[in-house]
Amino acid sequence: MSEPYPANRRERDAWVLARRAPQPVHDPRRPHASFLEAERAESGELVEVLTVLLVSRECPWRCVMCDLWRFTTTTSVPRGAIPAQLAAVLDPNAEPAPGPAVERARQIKLYNGGSFFDPRAIPPADYPAIAQHVCRFERVIVECHPALVGDRCARFRDLLHAAAGKVGGRSAPPPVLEVAMGLETAHPAVLEKLNKGMTLASFRRAAESLRRQGLAVRVFILVQPPFLEPAQALPWARRSLEFAFDCGATAAVLIPTRGGNGAVEALQARGQFTPPPLATLEAALDYGLELGRGRVLADLWDLERLAACPACFPSRRERLRALNLSQAPLPAIPCAVCSAPGPPAASQPSPGRHQVQPPLPA
Ligand code: SF4
Ligand SMILES: [Zn+2]
Repeated sequence: MSEPYPANRRERDAWVLARRAPQPVHDPRRPHASFLEAERAESGELVEVLTVLLVSRECPWRCVMCDLWRFTTTTSVPRGAIPAQLAAVLDPNAEPAPGPAVERARQIKLYNGGSFFDPRAIPPADYPAIAQHVCRFERVIVECHPALVGDRCARFRDLLHAAAGKVGGRSAPPPVLEVAMGLETAHPAVLEKLNKGMTLASFRRAAESLRRQGLAVRVFILVQPPFLEPAQALPWARRSLEFAFDCGATAAVLIPTRGGNGAVEALQARGQFTPPPLATLEAALDYGLELGRGRVLADLWDLERLAACPACFPSRRERLRALNLSQAPLPAIPCAVCSAPGPPAASQPSPGRHQVQPPLPA
């Protein structure tokens, strides 16, 4: 048996780092990727959202489940690099030029594999140029660790509003700034072991601060994180959704925990992580939609990893996609091959708001 999972943050950081593969090299003037997808907006409309995966300096935290460092750089990118990455996707004069689909996008996500408001990742001196690039969108969504929520959020919001105000002929309201934060789980002991360096209380304070500044909050939740018994995964995914909405989230995103960073595989080998079955993600999404407290989305990236039964997986993936878009319940997909009765929550009486959930600390 290998040595135990470290009990303190400094040793955990080293444990996580020791299991990483070499970091790929990235061009700081090109985004890692960009893509369009439809998403149900807070207003209820179906809108096109452009996601740009920016290349920036890696996050200073060492969360045990995170593999986003693979798309980052080890040193800060030079001033001007982030606006150049945006220009490559948005500038009408870029080569290749953005197509009409990009022009139709009404919202934009700027995800940088860390925190947008980490000054070593996104130079604050670039905020005005970034605001200039994205001020035409109705909503600008960035990600941030709760510890980095602060005055820079309001500063960037003001720059966005000012840039939008200078666009000739624009009569639309200024863009809404939305900040996505990883809650990961509302289970306090599991959250501590994930090595995120935050507590439920600090998460709640950051969410309150964002809301006070007039910003929208999006929350990422891990389905079946490490250190949680599989039988507890669904109850805690439900509890995490409730906590996210208690914190004022307008959207919660359910992310099935995946391997891929070395540390998660090591935990799996030690019996401290089991990949979630598709049914747990389905049931968590069904529950979140039933709550009716805000949008709930399942992250379908790389969902094939959860495909245990080739007979029903394609239809179940389509059902998840349809739930994401419609935000309305759909019947479960039964399967004669794997005997799946469909998602547990849909095949049994609805859990409802008053089902007994694991208690949360005050
Ligand atoms: S804070 Fe976010 S980006 Fe940073 S290591 Fe943790 S999960 Fe990854
Ligand atoms: Zn099946």
